[in-house]
Amino acid sequence: MSVANPATRRYLFAAFGGRCGYCLTATADHLDHLVPRAAGGSNSRFNLIPACTPCGRSKGALSIADWVSRQAAGATTTGAAAPPAPAPAYPVPRKPVTRHPAPA
Ligand SMILES: [Zn+2]
Repeated sequence: MSVANPATRRYLFAAFGGRCGYCLTATADHLDHLVPRAAGGSNSRFNLIPACTPCGRSKGALSIADWVSRQAAGATTTGAAAPPAPAPAYPVPRKPVTRHPAPA
């Protein structure tokens, strides 16, 4: 059973030009959940993205942030059983950065 109705499926594939929304190069062949179903993600169109099989399989049940981190680290396989992602090589701010200081 498809996770989206045919109109939503057509809309999402058209929005990405038929390409995978993760790698933007391969032809998409299915809809993937941005927030995995295992993490409570819904079948809403706002949580679906066209994907190619290699990207969909490598993302598995990972969050987008974890998947991107693993891809950046050169991971070839990921998924729920993969080891934790390495810590980022840059310091992550603990407080939100204030870009526009309040007027004095
Ligand atoms: Zn892809």
